[in-house]
Amino acid sequence: MGFDSARVETRSLVAEAPVTGSVVVARVTSQNMAAKSNSIWTTRIAVLLILLGALRIAAQTQPAIPAPDSRFKADVLVVIAHPDDDTAVSTFLAKAVFDQDKRVAVVFTNRGNAGPNAIGMEQSKALADVREIEARRSLAARGITNVWFLNGQDTPTQDVLHSLETLGHGQALEAVVRIIRLTRPDVILTWMPAYVAGENHGDHQAAGVVAVEAFDLAGNPTAFPEQLTAPRWHGGIANYGEGLHPWQPKKLYFFSDASHPDFLKGHGPTYLASDISRTKKIPYAQINRQAWHYYATQLDFNQQTLDYFLNMPEYFVLGKSLVPSAVTDDVWAGISGKPIAYAPPPQYRAPVRSGISLALGGPWAFYRQFYRAHGLKALEGLVPPQTALSWDHQLWVPLLLRNDTGRPADITLHANLPAEWSGDTHDRLYHLEPGTAYPVQLFLTAPASSNQSSPERLSWTALHHSAVAGQAHLAVYMEFDGVSQ
Ligand SMILES: [Zn+2]
Repeated sequence: MGFDSARVETRSLVAEAPVTGSVVVARVTSQNMAAKSNSIWTTRIAVLLILLGALRIAAQTQPAIPAPDSRFKADVLVVIAHPDDDTAVSTFLAKAVFDQDKRVAVVFTNRGNAGPNAIGMEQSKALADVREIEARRSLAARGITNVWFLNGQDTPTQDVLHSLETLGHGQALEAVVRIIRLTRPDVILTWMPAYVAGENHGDHQAAGVVAVEAFDLAGNPTAFPEQLTAPRWHGGIANYGEGLHPWQPKKLYFFSDASHPDFLKGHGPTYLASDISRTKKIPYAQINRQAWHYYATQLDFNQQTLDYFLNMPEYFVLGKSLVPSAVTDDVWAGISGKPIAYAPPPQYRAPVRSGISLALGGPWAFYRQFYRAHGLKALEGLVPPQTALSWDHQLWVPLLLRNDTGRPADITLHANLPAEWSGDTHDRLYHLEPGTAYPVQLFLTAPASSNQSSPERLSWTALHHSAVAGQAHLAVYMEFDGVSQ
């Protein structure tokens, strides 16, 4: 029925009211005119009330809005890169699921298509299909079934910026924000976004970067608003509104695969594989072994190395807490069931610069800005600039030379290297206009071996008018070259 016909019908119903009233009046002919008039108005009001009542009843019956899907509610959302990365926090996960009744959801940013295969010929896309199922089986055996895989490419370098590029940074961020809004976790647990000596996979770091950004965006109603729009009719098909709600996680924790983890101690809780599971009555290391069992393609190391992994202490670093919690408190300290308000990050502000300066560039320069932009004070200065390398391998060193003097400057870059390093070792002269930066790219080759204990300490000095204007330092641990820089 159209609007006009509805209005006409209402008008005709009102017009009939005096007719009905006149019938009533005809039955009481002994009453005077005043009484007749009162009776007519009483009838008119009665009819009007009946009509209004009918309208009121029609306006009350609206269907209730369904609540967010409780099957996907998580206490902790783990944001990691490769199928098997979960083994780096398997003690924590076993304790959370089996002993603390916590709900865990996991996001993998890629499916491990560039990994090794210790048991078969399947590689590349076929290996990705295999590894996704390995992860699903391993996690399901530990009671974790809400697991998502993003479309990143497994990119085995140590450069986080390279991994962010192949991941599809924006698309991955959109996806992780969506999954946070869907799973509504109290805690986000992710790889530490930092350049460390260790495996230091760029994909691990990139997962951490995206998780931090998503932690700071998921509660923002202006971020990815298409996820928050109500569908016009949720029971229909081809809706465009995703029907989610903003969600602010409460705590953000990092873990790392640093080969020298001492710097992590005391910056968060530690979970020990030697502890006994309250419900399983066995050490967590045994549960971890079962978890690893499903990752057969990735068991390309000997029993001794596996035992090391199974028993590794899990050092967490508290990145942020928006609820009262001491740094080394348990992950669940300060968590209540109530949602909290959106907590915007401080945002990036360019530092005030002056004079000539020299600093490590590339990923190191990115992290200096990233920590400030997201208020990650816990990570500022936590890891002294470091990398790892095998003897006789090539080292890439990006440096950032700046001239903020207001005048053109000729700057000499001098390398201070341990014995027998070769490659870009000679002094270099750079001419910089005022307010400009020069991204220096150096390539060095480590000596075949050395009697000195690791790490090798390398530094560079910027000289302006023969005076030291800036210095950059890098510690190189000569021990491991798992993925190239
Ligand atoms: Zn990995």
